[in-house]
Amino acid sequence: MQVPSTQDLLAAWEHGRATPRPTGRALALLSAACAEIPPGEVARLAIGARDRLLLTLRRKMFGSRLAAVTQCPACRASLELEFDVDDISVTPSGKTELPESTEALSLSQDGYEISFRLPNSLDLLALPGHGSIDESKRHLIERVLLQALHGDREISAAKLPQALMDALARKMSLADPQGEIRLNLSCAECETNWRAPFDIVSYLWSEIDAWAIRLLRDVHQLARAYGWPESDILALSPMRRQCYLDMLDQ
Ligand SMILES: [Zn+2]
Repeated sequence: MQVPSTQDLLAAWEHGRATPRPTGRALALLSAACAEIPPGEVARLAIGARDRLLLTLRRKMFGSRLAAVTQCPACRASLELEFDVDDISVTPSGKTELPESTEALSLSQDGYEISFRLPNSLDLLALPGHGSIDESKRHLIERVLLQALHGDREISAAKLPQALMDALARKMSLADPQGEIRLNLSCAECETNWRAPFDIVSYLWSEIDAWAIRLLRDVHQLARAYGWPESDILALSPMRRQCYLDMLDQ
């Protein structure tokens, strides 16, 4: 993986902005950064493996410290968090590598024998953008189900009881913990403990969005002052761009 050039990152940002789905944005960033992975293959990575690549990209671009602000669910006190990329890099217990989305996993419960694979970005993109969480869960399970047997009879995902759907969703989370990061938080004001989700896709996207807007503002200032075309300004190193901007203020 390489940090994309300014031009490539800006193109990925533009592409990502045009798609309302976070998954589309994650793929736009990673296809700019991972030239060594054939197009389409990133989209077929399990979510944990994809998010690990995003964490690596984040580390290379902005460093390994992450900061966020959240609110205590009990007393509404504001809580500032700071943690490291390593703190949220996890693999399933007993394993040393992240699972692949092609690997077949199984679940036996209540007389059902289920075989399934882990979801990937293509599965998330195929979900309808509307509907309840349960409906989305069912759509997702329909896509990743390899076989479901009740006794000797093969059944479809639509016929799976709710308890089994919930058990499948739990098993998927356990099998791919990197895809569903939760932070253990504690409130200094009221001592409430809770677990909050952390989503590297929206976190990194908002950083890149802010970076792109700053950059375009700089281009605007320099183009207006010197009459240089956008491509020439983007080809300057960040340090040189900043030097010219500082001179404008003098
Ligand atoms: Zn509190």
